[in-house]
Amino acid sequence: MSRRLEGKTIVVTGASSGIGKATAIEFARTSPKSLKLIITARRIDTLKEIAAEITKEVGEGVKVLPVQLDVSKADQVRNFVGNLPEEFREIDVLVNNAGLVKGVDKIGDIKEDDIQVMMDTNVHGLINMTQAVLQSMRKRGESGAGDIINIGSIAGREGYPGGAIYCATKAAVRTFTDAIRKELIATRIRVMEIDPGQVETEFSVVRFYGDKSKADAVYKGVDPLTPSDIAETVVFAAARPENVVIADMLIFPNHQA
Ligand code: NDP
Repeated sequence: MSRRLEGKTIVVTGASSGIGKATAIEFARTSPKSLKLIITARRIDTLKEIAAEITKEVGEGVKVLPVQLDVSKADQVRNFVGNLPEEFREIDVLVNNAGLVKGVDKIGDIKEDDIQVMMDTNVHGLINMTQAVLQSMRKRGESGAGDIINIGSIAGREGYPGGAIYCATKAAVRTFTDAIRKELIATRIRVMEIDPGQVETEFSVVRFYGDKSKADAVYKGVDPLTPSDIAETVVFAAARPENVVIADMLIFPNHQA
């Protein structure tokens, strides 16, 4: 399974917690002998701790580079690849995972700032990262090679009350992903989307502006997915042979309708 991953350079955005952190760890466990892993998010201290955890677990075979990056800041994203140490600049796999939801307000009450932050992170951030990394993938050889794996959501397929903006951002991810997958058909760059249902992460803590008790209540009495459930699927997708693309996958916990 790990045949395509050995020696690869992999970027995971939003790797300081939840699905992104689990994905970074899963890549490292799958290819412990030879991998370059760039883990990015805003919380650099947390990323450094995760990098140390990974090295402790799998050893020096995986080179882990923690990079502070706010995907909602276009200038940071534009300079991201160029600022990497030379040996990390040829990126093979980009996991566009950074994302958030703010608030559960109905449309008349949603705060302007919250709309902006969701659009800037979930939509512009993902688009800008894709463009930045695609350039690096294309520079290698005539048609380039690589994988872009976008983390969407069930929320991109159906709306729910209180989620209008978040759902709109994830619907944008979905059609963006579909369009560029078709644009890049016949190149060696694969574009994939993984859409989770309910996963227990810091996601709800952010949604309730840091109120942990409200966040915990979301998962009470249900058996949500774990970040590893999604991470394993991301790594599975990246490890498919050249002729296979996991274009679109929806993953639910067993209780979710
Ligand atoms: P977490 O809140 O645990 O993780 C979100 C990650 O995104 C964090 O590492 C955070 O890091 C990062 N992030 C947020 N804003 C930015 C930014 N501007 N720039 C860079 N990084 C940022 O949530 P999840 O792991 O659950 O979420 C990961 C993805 O999964 C998101 O795209 C989310 O929409 C999606 N998803 C989650 C579901 C769930 O039920 N949990 C369901 C379906 C989809 P930092 O704060 O350090 O920047």
